[in-house]
Amino acid sequence: MNDSLCQLKGIGAKKQALFARLGIHTIQDLLQYFPRQYEDRQHIVPIRSIGRWGDKKVLVCGVIQQIQEIHPRKGLSILKVRVSDDTGMVELIWFNQPYKKKSLSLFSQVTVFGNATLSYGIWQMNNPEIEQGCCVYEALLPLYGLTEGLRQQDIRKAVQAALALVKQRNSIDSEPQQGFVVNPYRCMSTYEAYEKMHFPKTMEVQQKARKQLAFEELFDLQLGLLLRRRHERMVKGVKCTVNGALLKQFISSLSFTLTKGQIKAFLDIQDDMEGDVPMQRLIQGDVGSGKTVVAALALLKVVENGYQGVLMAPTEILATQHFEEFSRLFQSFPVKIALLTGRINRTQRKQLVEELQQGTIHILIGTHALLQPDVIFSQLGLVVTDEQHRFGVRQRAILQNKGKAPHVLFMTATPIPRTLALSVYGDLDVSSIREMPPGRQIVKTYVIGEAMRARMYQFMKKIMMQGQQCYVVCPLVEESAHLDVQAATALYEKLSTQVFTEFRCALVHGQLGSTEKEEIMTAFQQGKIDLLVATSVIEVGVNVPNATIMVIEDAERFGLAQLHQLRGRVGRGTAQSYCILLAKGKNKEIQQRLHWMETIHDGFALSEKDLLLRGAGRLFGYVQHGLPDLKVANILGDIDILIAAREAATLYVQGNIDESAIIEKISRRFGGHFTRILNH
Ligand code: ADP
Ligand code: MG
Repeated sequence: MNDSLCQLKGIGAKKQALFARLGIHTIQDLLQYFPRQYEDRQHIVPIRSIGRWGDKKVLVCGVIQQIQEIHPRKGLSILKVRVSDDTGMVELIWFNQPYKKKSLSLFSQVTVFGNATLSYGIWQMNNPEIEQGCCVYEALLPLYGLTEGLRQQDIRKAVQAALALVKQRNSIDSEPQQGFVVNPYRCMSTYEAYEKMHFPKTMEVQQKARKQLAFEELFDLQLGLLLRRRHERMVKGVKCTVNGALLKQFISSLSFTLTKGQIKAFLDIQDDMEGDVPMQRLIQGDVGSGKTVVAALALLKVVENGYQGVLMAPTEILATQHFEEFSRLFQSFPVKIALLTGRINRTQRKQLVEELQQGTIHILIGTHALLQPDVIFSQLGLVVTDEQHRFGVRQRAILQNKGKAPHVLFMTATPIPRTLALSVYGDLDVSSIREMPPGRQIVKTYVIGEAMRARMYQFMKKIMMQGQQCYVVCPLVEESAHLDVQAATALYEKLSTQVFTEFRCALVHGQLGSTEKEEIMTAFQQGKIDLLVATSVIEVGVNVPNATIMVIEDAERFGLAQLHQLRGRVGRGTAQSYCILLAKGKNKEIQQRLHWMETIHDGFALSEKDLLLRGAGRLFGYVQHGLPDLKVANILGDIDILIAAREAATLYVQGNIDESAIIEKISRRFGGHFTRILNH
């Protein structure tokens, strides 16, 4: 299976290079390069009933009655061929393919495949495929994704050759079987399943084969995740069993009561931390649901047990904000907190690193700067990562390795439906905070078109006159950050010099230096700026309660999850807040998507909708998690199979297993990248 493609008949260096462009290097790659669609050429349609097939392609068999070539003008040749069967006549038309004529002879039988349209009472097919005689396929015809230079036939032939080769060598079914694992979807041999994926007779057969293979794939994925988890569990964690007088005192010092969700999340954390096994927990909760204080509780717990804690945030602004909030929260507690970002000066840094190593700093908060090798803890007990989807697996691993099997807590505001979490975070425990702190207002959300822009500006003026502040977020230019900045700059110029001349406006974007960015954000926070034009850099976590309007330009370019995050920047104070989404165009799907923003205010519900529309893909940082691309299974559609695979894998790892054989098998399937993560 891992043999190179050139083992196959008909594949030389040139073809090999073309296949490589599709990511196909080995026979296994080829067999797992499944068709995107299938064409049904098994059923001949009587010409009279072509119309019943709508705009689907149809297969017709008949006799050529007329061949006509015309040249309406220079450089244009049209070949018209009439074919009839017992029921009617269809006209075939090819443009500028005069050579076709040579292969056609009058009164011969042909089979034609194409789309038929009715024109002046005659059925016509433009550029159909045509073959001599009556050829009906015995299976569905696979259609693969192509690259220039490779045709469908090339791939089909190669797949056929590969299937023949592995059949001859019997190399699929002789792969080590998964012990006592029962694949509930198994109904044929694995070889047959591959064959039926490529050349099924019916779609039912293809479905069966697909499910069977999807189970195997998901089983291996879950096996990998469980093994990783098991490794982590084998080391003893930092046991935190001190009774928690400080914690109790802290909870009663809070100016609010914790919500049910916050309490539940912390109880989960507490359970984990009091056990032997290092915690691996994800807290997911909508923007504003109060994850920070849960993190504070967890951090205080390790501190009370004599360990240090660290909190990593993706941006400097966010890290600073956390630092300030923690300083406030722990004001009257014997807890020493420090902030480490790229901005801190040398002498300060030197001192900080020293104190950290001596253990006099209890909680360190910071950005990527925390990852530097000289940041060494004396007794690291807990690693918290905020907005975890912003970090890669590697980065998180570096931080964790600064302690001896510390507890690990992730926080995310991108909620994931439970079932999906299972596959994306197969190896994490998840606590969800589903309710908001009481008294939170719903951000009134409106989707408007260009015609309403002037009125929107009037409204913004009115609000700013009352002393409140606005955000205007610029369209996302996906191709380049540079264009993003250009668009933002242009908008800022216009707003500050033409529309809002009497207000204090500022611009913040990703290409500003972090000092500058910080200064602007701080000024905005302090109310020294009325209107802030921004690229999506403000997406994450900033807290300015006096900001009550969020305008998003070209809102259709953002995903729902992202819009929801942006919207979460307002509605943080007591005043009514607004989110105004400017959208161009009348595309129905876009309108529907944005309409959900008007009616749905729960991030979980929105992310479910987003999933329906956009697929899981990169949305949830699936790739950042270091998880492999799946060839057969569909993370969203195959939830049942996923759950079955997870159960089977869980049972399996409890048995007597040969780990290295499993790891080898998994890495053969998913590539070394995935396995490296298993061993991290
Ligand atoms: P997020 O989950 O988005 O990180 P934060 O932790 O920043 O949310 O919390 C948002 C705001 O809600 C903060 O100002 C915080 O002090 C406040 N808050 C958190 N928990 C509660 C609560 N139980 N009751 C009232 N306010 C709360
Ligand atoms: Mg937060």
